[in-house]
Amino acid sequence: MNDSSPIFEKIALIGAGLIGSSIALAARRANLAGHIAAYVPRPETRARAEKAGFADSLHAEIEPAVADADLVVLATPVGAYEALAKLAAPYLKQGAILTDVGSVKAVVIKDVGPHVPPGVHLIPGHPVAGTEQSGPEAGFAELFDGRWCILTPPAGVDAEALGKLKEFWRRCGSEVETMEAKHHDLVLAITSHVPHLIAYNIVGTAADLETVTQSEVIKYSASGFRDFTRIAASDPTMWRDIFLNNREAVLEMLGRFNEDLTALQRAVRWGDGETLFKLFTRTRAIRRSIIEAGQDTPQPNFGRSRSGAGGRR
Ligand code: NAP
Repeated sequence: MNDSSPIFEKIALIGAGLIGSSIALAARRANLAGHIAAYVPRPETRARAEKAGFADSLHAEIEPAVADADLVVLATPVGAYEALAKLAAPYLKQGAILTDVGSVKAVVIKDVGPHVPPGVHLIPGHPVAGTEQSGPEAGFAELFDGRWCILTPPAGVDAEALGKLKEFWRRCGSEVETMEAKHHDLVLAITSHVPHLIAYNIVGTAADLETVTQSEVIKYSASGFRDFTRIAASDPTMWRDIFLNNREAVLEMLGRFNEDLTALQRAVRWGDGETLFKLFTRTRAIRRSIIEAGQDTPQPNFGRSRSGAGGRR
C-alpha cells in the first residue's frame, strides 16, 4: 500500500454530525476509502447530510450502511453506542474494524465490547479535535490536522487492524497516540471535561444573577466570560453523555479543583498577592507551551473557525 492508495474499500459512519462529516471529508481529501457510507436515520438530518454532500451513500437503515464495510465508525453521542452496537452487530463483516470517536473511552469497552462478533476488531478512538458547532454541515476536512487522535486498543488487539487504523488517522492529518482507556478518561477529565463543566457553571451563574441584568452580561462580556460562553455553547446531548460516562474521573479532578479554588479564595480574602502572582505566572507559561506545541494559536479567538485550527475536546 503506498501513501496515496485507499486503506479501506468501504467505510461506514454511524452518525454524521461534526465529527462524522469531518472524517468523511478528511478521508476523501486523502483518498482513504473507495466508498463512504453513512447511517443517518432521521429524515431531516439525512436531508441536511445529503445537501452537505460528504458521503457516497446515506442510509435510513443500518444494514446497508455497515454491510461489507472494512471500517465502521461510531460517531454519535456515547449514550447511543450500546443500542447502535447491538443493531449493527449482525451485519458487521468478518475482519472489519469497529471504532468510535467518543470523548470518553472506558465506557466503549463496557457498552460496545459485549456486542462485537468474533472476528471483528474493536479499537476505540478519540480525535482530540472539535469545535462547538454540531450537525452534518459543521464538518471540514482540516479538523484533524495537527491534532492528536488517541486510540485505546484493548489487550490482545489484532496488530494489523491497529496498524491500519493508525494509518487512517495519520492520513486524516492527526498525530496518533495509544493509551489505556482509563488513563485516557483521567487525562481528558482535567484537560477537557472539568473545563467544560466550569464553563457551563459560570455561564449559568452569570445568567442567574439578579443584580446584573442579562443584557449587561451580554453587553459587557469581556474576553474571559465570552470565551466561557463559547465552550458552554457545546452540544448538550454530547456533554451530558460525557459526564454520565466519566463520573469517577471527573469527580476526582473536581475534588482537586475545589481544593485549589479554596486556596485561591483564601489568597484573595487575605490580600495574598504573592500567591496569586506566582500561580498566574505559572499558568501563563503553560499557555505558552501549548502554543509552542502547535496545539493552539496566539489569536484572541484561538483561531477556532472553519479556516483556523479546530478547538480541542
Ligand atoms: P453532532 O455534531 O451532534 O453529531 C452527532 C450525530 O449523531 C448527529 O448527526 C445525530 O443525528 C447522530 N445521532 C444521534 N443519535 C443517533 C442514533 N441513535 N443513531 C444514529 N445517529 C444518531 O456531534 P459530534 O460533535 O459529531 O460528536 C459525535 C461524537 O464525537 C460524540 O461521541 C463526542 O463525544 C465525540 N467528539 C466530539 C468532539 C467535538 O468537539 N464535538 C470532539 C471529539 C469527539 P440527529 O441529529 O439526527 O440525532
